[in-house]
Amino acid sequence: MSEDRRLLQDLVLAQSTTQRAGHLREDPEALAGLTDRLFVHVGPQGARIDGAALVWETIPCPDNAVTFLGVEGDTAFFACHHVASEEPDGWRDLRQIGSRLEARDVGLMVSAVALDNWRRSHAHCGRCGTQTWDADAGWARRCPECDHLHFPRTDPAVIVLVRDGDDRALLGRQAQWAEGWFSTLAGFVEAGETAEAAVVREVREESGVHITPDSVHYLGSQPWPFPSSLMLGYHAWTDDPSTDPDGEEIAEVRWLSRDELRSACQSGEVRLPPRISIARMLIERWFGEPIPSEWGRN
Ligand SMILES: [Zn+2]
Repeated sequence: MSEDRRLLQDLVLAQSTTQRAGHLREDPEALAGLTDRLFVHVGPQGARIDGAALVWETIPCPDNAVTFLGVEGDTAFFACHHVASEEPDGWRDLRQIGSRLEARDVGLMVSAVALDNWRRSHAHCGRCGTQTWDADAGWARRCPECDHLHFPRTDPAVIVLVRDGDDRALLGRQAQWAEGWFSTLAGFVEAGETAEAAVVREVREESGVHITPDSVHYLGSQPWPFPSSLMLGYHAWTDDPSTDPDGEEIAEVRWLSRDELRSACQSGEVRLPPRISIARMLIERWFGEPIPSEWGRN
């Protein structure tokens, strides 16, 4: 426990270089006055990509809704929401492209995709069912009937690498995953629950391993807008390595030492989550050195 406890570094989707400039969302005149305007196209299949770069255009798309994403210097960035992605070849999912984009574009695309998913599934008022309209430059939707203002939702989820007295790591395989695919344990925070309690509960439900709230140590977070999660990353410790996986969500769990993980990955017996995930970074932090890309399952 006497190790370096800095937060996780280099989380792919946690990068951001632009200012959100929230004060401009409710100031249409100031927003219109930003003459350097760039638009990125987002839709059900992600965003429009050329090579490993987002395509930014100066021409807005008049038939589509637009969200103000932020500013950098004199340039304002907007998302242009497409009902359907009409040219599948040029569109890429954030999960495919995220680790290859520059920091500025990752930050903007994460917000654009999160907002696009939200507006696609929240077109009607949750109170009275009336169709809602854009407000606050795309960061809210107002109901014209009951005047309720709806904001984009973010669902907190916890993700945890559990370590035992021999400093082995607990990894699990989800029932729907291929043989050999392993990751850290994760689950949503329930209504009225703290994040720490969710870690304790999820670990127990999925693996049968008992941990206590005071062993749960927060390491960092990254947005995961598929469709609307915020992943809160933890390490936790237990003295009792006995396991009892639930068999429904988690098919099997394994305790692995660093040497065992290395040989299992080198032989292809175990495959780890992709670089873009916080799970990968939680494993890498415990492992103590960068994990080779060929150990990942992408
Ligand atoms: Zn309403």
